[in-house]
Amino acid sequence: MPASQYDAIVIGARCAGSPIAMLLARQGHKVLLVDKATFPSDTISTHLIHPTGMSHLRQWGLAERVIATNCPPIHTYAFDFGPVTITGSPGTKDEPYSYAPRRTVLDKILVDAAAEAGAEIREAFTVEEILVEDGTVVGIRGHQRGGETVTERARIVIGADGRHSMVARTMKAEQYNERPELESSYYTYYSGVPMNGRFETYIRGPRAFAAWSTNDDLTLVVGGWPYREFEENKKDVEGNFMKMLDLVPEFAKRIRAGKREERWYGAAVPNFFRKPFGPGWALAGDAGYNKDFITAMGISDAFSDADRGASAIHSWLEGSRQLDDSMGEYQKTRDAHVMPTFELTCQIAALEPPSAEFQQLLGAVAGKEGPMNQFAQMMAGVKSPAEFFAPENVEKFFQG
Ligand SMILES: Cc1cc2nc3c(=O)[nH]c(=O)nc-3n(C[C@H](O)[C@H](O)[C@H](O)COP(=O)(O)OP(=O)(O)OC[C@H]3O[C@@H](n4cnc5c(N)ncnc54)[C@H](O)[C@@H]3O)c2cc1C
Repeated sequence: MPASQYDAIVIGARCAGSPIAMLLARQGHKVLLVDKATFPSDTISTHLIHPTGMSHLRQWGLAERVIATNCPPIHTYAFDFGPVTITGSPGTKDEPYSYAPRRTVLDKILVDAAAEAGAEIREAFTVEEILVEDGTVVGIRGHQRGGETVTERARIVIGADGRHSMVARTMKAEQYNERPELESSYYTYYSGVPMNGRFETYIRGPRAFAAWSTNDDLTLVVGGWPYREFEENKKDVEGNFMKMLDLVPEFAKRIRAGKREERWYGAAVPNFFRKPFGPGWALAGDAGYNKDFITAMGISDAFSDADRGASAIHSWLEGSRQLDDSMGEYQKTRDAHVMPTFELTCQIAALEPPSAEFQQLLGAVAGKEGPMNQFAQMMAGVKSPAEFFAPENVEKFFQG
């Protein structure tokens, strides 16, 4: 068998792939990072990064680069349910702000950081096939845009290739906790809609919409409806979107006072977990765990995956642990960490009326600084829903 040219090949150079390649290269491993895209480039995704995600960027020495792109800090999250609005700080003393860099900006910073760490980067490189020998992944076959098909071999191939992952498909990665598409959303960018450091979201019946600032003095405006309305509503996206905003006339007025600067982008995604490893392969980011974007957790989760995944794979590459053992622990930790937020995300994405119990809870939280901050932190993934909804915690909200 020919020797591996690389320790690791990473497919996909965005939120999961570039950081995992960077971290493995920083540990001294020989890494090839490929993507069919070139950078900078956009992808269909809004891009709120909660303080948890920012703290990964800070740890990696990349937060200042993101902030330096003139991307305004977001210090307040406001959740307007109609009868009550919960307004709180999503962050902590150490990491107080969220940011929303355009993916053209963020993904370029990430891929450049992987290159600086010593990973070999091939942009405009499409992987056509995952090479498998005796049930073990041994490499990839693919081509540079306009080039010949080449074969590259590695001890491990990491699929950071998004929710339609070729690695997962080829290796028939076991899928669990599956839920279908629950809502569909559209978003675009406006100038002339100042947000003053606020992320604002409005929930009205089976509709949810939000706005926050990004680079270039633009404001991202996003909103969605249940997936069952997707086919009908896509016949007139703008008309249906504006009708939705009119449910909160003050907000609609602010948006109409601005100018739409880009086209409409839309998506709906299914929810699932995948077993993220097997002989010679691993998955990170959306390839291993995908969920509705209504809680904006995907980027921060991809960063956590990169962090945990790189350390699990490093311990196998350096020979201190078996892959099954280190990646088995990675899967267990990932699932335990994200499961409460996954359940909350699916509940919110269903866009069903809040239960009487939840409405009472909101009433008890509204107007109280500490509980409102806790709510904002939960929605930012800083505090676990399990901790927020724990009976002894909820009891305190009702006590005043
Ligand atoms: C509408 C929408 C809104 C969202 N909003 C937010 C938000 O506000 N905040 C948030 O945190 N998350 C959000 N998300 C989720 C977020 O976009 C994802 O979780 C995140 O992009 C996952 O990163 P990734 O690196 O795993 O995958 P991706 O970003 O999907 O990157 C995968 C890469 O793999 C490459 N690739 C795939 N196949 C191949 C191949 N065969 N050969 C070569 N390259 C290949 C692709 O070109 C791509 O660049 C949103 C998602 C959607 C759809």
